[in-house]
Amino acid sequence: MEKTSARMQELVNAKLQMEVETRMILKFLPSDKFFRDSPFTGDPECICSRCGKPIEEDELAIRIFVGKEGEYVGEYRYHPSCIGVKTFEDDDIDDFDSEA
Ligand SMILES: [Zn+2]
Repeated sequence: MEKTSARMQELVNAKLQMEVETRMILKFLPSDKFFRDSPFTGDPECICSRCGKPIEEDELAIRIFVGKEGEYVGEYRYHPSCIGVKTFEDDDIDDFDSEA
């Protein structure tokens, strides 16, 4: 019995460790622009909070919505590369699937 709970604890710890390691930490910069609107990706108004350049239609916008209790206040939005996130092309995902 004692051995089983130790093993369970070990698994729980391993899971927590994985969650901690996969959690993304985004550091807002004072210069990041906050937007009250939320245009579609590819809209000329869809500007990156960090670099100020448009986020094109074929790019992924990383959006951090700000608000409380369901009330939308605004958002920060970023090019993935502007916050150090790598995105995968469809081909990469196919490769990943075939390895599994
Ligand atoms: Zn950017």
